[in-house]
Amino acid sequence: MNPNTKALPFFKPLLGRREIAAAARVLRSGWLTTGPEALAFEDEFASFLQVDDLRALCVNSATSGLHLALEAVGVGPGDLVAVPSLTFTATAEVVRYLGADPVFVDSESESGNMDPRALDSACHNAKRNGRRIKAVIPVHLAGKVCDMESINGVLAGSETAVIEDAAHAFPSRTDMGSAGTLGDIGVFSFYATKTITTGEGGMVVTRNAVYAERMRLMRLHGIDKAVWNRYSAGAARRSWEYDVIAPGFKYNMTDLAAAVGRVQLSRADHLHELRVKLAHRYIDALGGLDGLELPVGGPDHAWHLFIIRLPDKEMRNRSADMLYDKGIGSSVHFIPLHRMEYWKNRYKLNPADFPVAENLADRILSLPLWPGMKRRDQDRVIRTVRESLRG
Ligand SMILES: *Cc1c(COP(=O)(O)O)cnc(C)c1O
Repeated sequence: MNPNTKALPFFKPLLGRREIAAAARVLRSGWLTTGPEALAFEDEFASFLQVDDLRALCVNSATSGLHLALEAVGVGPGDLVAVPSLTFTATAEVVRYLGADPVFVDSESESGNMDPRALDSACHNAKRNGRRIKAVIPVHLAGKVCDMESINGVLAGSETAVIEDAAHAFPSRTDMGSAGTLGDIGVFSFYATKTITTGEGGMVVTRNAVYAERMRLMRLHGIDKAVWNRYSAGAARRSWEYDVIAPGFKYNMTDLAAAVGRVQLSRADHLHELRVKLAHRYIDALGGLDGLELPVGGPDHAWHLFIIRLPDKEMRNRSADMLYDKGIGSSVHFIPLHRMEYWKNRYKLNPADFPVAENLADRILSLPLWPGMKRRDQDRVIRTVRESLRG
């Protein structure tokens, strides 16, 4: 990298005075763990999604949320859970936490999301082997919502639960509602690089009261009542009198994180607008170039990622290297799980069963896209991508 060029990171969160003030307020309050901020964050998050009777539970990561969701719908040893191969490993690892087995599903070409037809074959395959897919985890890749109508259609009449991995999809709105509210349970991530962040954190939403209660219980040690405030001055009398009714987990969110999350949530629409503007600028500047395919937008796109497609692996790698040499961050979302050693070996996965994900894996490249990104920095990215296409 030329020492005179400033490094342009792949991602940087947009955090300001209000987030800092919120964190300071919690530090001064003397109450750091789950408390009033976490409860307020849950209420505010549920109202943001505008669904009646939606319950929101904040957790310490989306991975924890996915684990709680699968546990709540009853996934256990020997069960099958369908996941896309083109995702982050967290989507599949939580299935193993419960002793169940993931069934990897190929992508459809336009969005890279789970292909409903491939899901249909996976369901039939399972049936032929005398097994049943207990749950499906569609992932809204980059923030573009999956074809939920077709996925729900494939599952119609079955008792298969749908758990949306909406880690990329806040806020993504469709005619049927927001991402995360289109299945039985939706899980959002507030990891440092996601569209709103608490450093580490996540939110689980559901309309199903039984699932919500199970997840609330398992989120904090399987303790039978809300005892988060048992050490505060406002605690109920004899709040130490609680029972443990399940071997739960330690997945609660701290008030420190929740206070930052509340501010980020209040800015979510604005942050989204900034992303949409940058995405459209990329589309305008890179559209129509020979050999370059651009993502398809739409109101349902959160634009967590801007994933371009180069003609082949060699050209993808050349673009990535050229960006790197100019100090510009880029990434690949994702190298499919069927190529990862653990998943490949354990389930004897064959690349030929994932033709679309295979093809995409070699050609995709995620360009920098974050709300505070300057236009002239984006222009540097655009120039470099154009240059890399000329060879
Ligand atoms: C980030 C991510 C997760 C995990 O989120 P955490 O909050 O870091 O646990 C899960 N699924 C996908 C698709 C992700 O990108």
